[in-house]
Amino acid sequence: MAEQHYDLLVIGGGSGGLACSKAAAKLGKKVAVCDFVQPSPLGTTWGLGGTCVNVGCIPKKLMHQAALLGEAMKDAKEYGWDVPQTPTLKWEEMVGAVQMHIKSLNFGYRADLMSHSVKYLNAYATLVDAHTIETVDKKGKRSVLTAERVVLAMGGRPKYPDIPGARELAITSDDLFSMRTSPGKTLVVGASYVALECAGFIHGVGLETKVMMRSIPLRGFDQQMAGQIKTFMEQSGIPFVQGVPTSIEQAGERKRVTWTRTDGTTEAEEFDTVLLAVGRDVCTRGIGLEAAGVEVSPNGKIPVKSEQTNVPNIYAIGDVVDGDKLSPPSNLTELTPVAIQAGKLLAQRLYGGKTLEMDYTNVPTTVYTPLEYGCVGMTEELAESTYGKEAIEVYHSYFKPLEWTIPHKGDNACYAKLICLIPEKERVIGLHICGPNAGEMTQGFAVAMKCGATKADFDNTVGIHPTTVEEFTIMDVTKRSGASAEKTGC
Ligand code: FAD
Ligand code: NDP
Repeated sequence: MAEQHYDLLVIGGGSGGLACSKAAAKLGKKVAVCDFVQPSPLGTTWGLGGTCVNVGCIPKKLMHQAALLGEAMKDAKEYGWDVPQTPTLKWEEMVGAVQMHIKSLNFGYRADLMSHSVKYLNAYATLVDAHTIETVDKKGKRSVLTAERVVLAMGGRPKYPDIPGARELAITSDDLFSMRTSPGKTLVVGASYVALECAGFIHGVGLETKVMMRSIPLRGFDQQMAGQIKTFMEQSGIPFVQGVPTSIEQAGERKRVTWTRTDGTTEAEEFDTVLLAVGRDVCTRGIGLEAAGVEVSPNGKIPVKSEQTNVPNIYAIGDVVDGDKLSPPSNLTELTPVAIQAGKLLAQRLYGGKTLEMDYTNVPTTVYTPLEYGCVGMTEELAESTYGKEAIEVYHSYFKPLEWTIPHKGDNACYAKLICLIPEKERVIGLHICGPNAGEMTQGFAVAMKCGATKADFDNTVGIHPTTVEEFTIMDVTKRSGASAEKTGC
């Protein structure tokens, strides 16, 4: 039994679990990781690496790129390139290429664990008590492992609305990225990150796409920016309908979706594919957290302090962490780099004599919609409610990327704003930009904001010309002034 005892046992081999286990092993600890993927209701399953690698960030960004290439081909014509009248994408080939890359990453993660001497168990783990875990592999073989410490990093899975046909006839992001045949005409239900990103690339690769929105787009994000993204998507040919689905039925080869509109009336339409993107549930139920005495919030998430749960030897990282219970609360805990950073720092504090804590504030993020949206810090709504309208100065600007002038597109589509706190020398507390490559632009500004950059620091920074990101160094129109934020020249 001796070899079954570990210094650290990690449940979940995703972004957070892998980072934490490798960091602990590097510091000389005996570590094991249990990772097991329960098949989706349609039977989709995948390899080691968790959500990001298999059914999240990686395939999503690659498919977003496929869509951007289609758009670039349209622009290329305007620049003089001779391209086919209607370039078409072979879905099967795109999925094949994406899945090939994912398989290589799965292989790389296994090799990486081996080279760090981390024991990998492809088995489902359940806590028996605070130090004991039972695992069951796919052949049903059971094992019992014990550990001094346990890290919970089980991530989450898509939710299903409680309506007829949802589980049997619809897909989620867990199924989409490995679909061997084109989804065809698609209804995307939901209007947050996952929904709008998927709707964006499905439409971008040439498929008819509709979004069903229950209330507002991109809840939790700056609503002016969210509106900008929605308008751009609508203008590119993605209709938004306001409503909630009530049933999904098979109708020949297609799926007939019935929904209730906000005004109470009902409507129905047939689609080839219905993609449900109505949020995610964390995988904390039925894994023995009660037996181990771990406190769980009503939303299923785990409250932590310095990643430690209420049970002293049990920790939690990544998507399972309850962001509402952090101090200050954070709605940006469900991101890969957050899980990785929290996992690494935890291992270094537990085993490396370090004291650095995970900082959940000023986490930058980007939504990979057809017009990308990058942000760091507060939304305008949050800044106003926290400090009061009078304490906030918002500098803003519409801009058009130089590259868009030849295809003559996107007037007033791209927009940037800086939210500054007047009593603190106009310290920048929120930065928002929607435009091409917003993800690449936002990262560096997150560093500046961590260093406490003020509006004067932005003004004193020389821009790089011609870029779109130089916009942040030349902003002089405040919202308060009421002056036009539209661009007139170079
Ligand atoms: P996960 O990566 O989900 O890993 C958890 C692992 O634990 C899984 O493999 C699961 O099967 C396994 N597991 C669960 N229960 C058990 C058990 N009892 N026993 C054994 N194994 C178990 N984030 C970004 O930063 N950028 C993006 O662009 C981005 N895009 C996304 C797109 C989509 C469509 C989705 C769904 C998410 C996206 N995310 C993105 C979020 C990101 O993927 C997650 O925040 C991140 O993967 C969370 O890491 P984690 O370690 O907490 O959990
Ligand atoms: P969210 O919980 O953020 O959004 C759920 C969406 O579904 C909302 O628009 C919600 O509407 C809608 N909805 C919920 N129930 C229903 C229903 N019954 N009928 C119709 N619509 C419904 O979840 P996501 O899955 O989009 O994202 C989860 C997390 O994954 C994010 O918080 C993010 O951290 C991470 N992620 C990160 C990405 C990135 O970094 N680029 C990309 C994708 C995900 P309403 O607003 O009315 O509640």
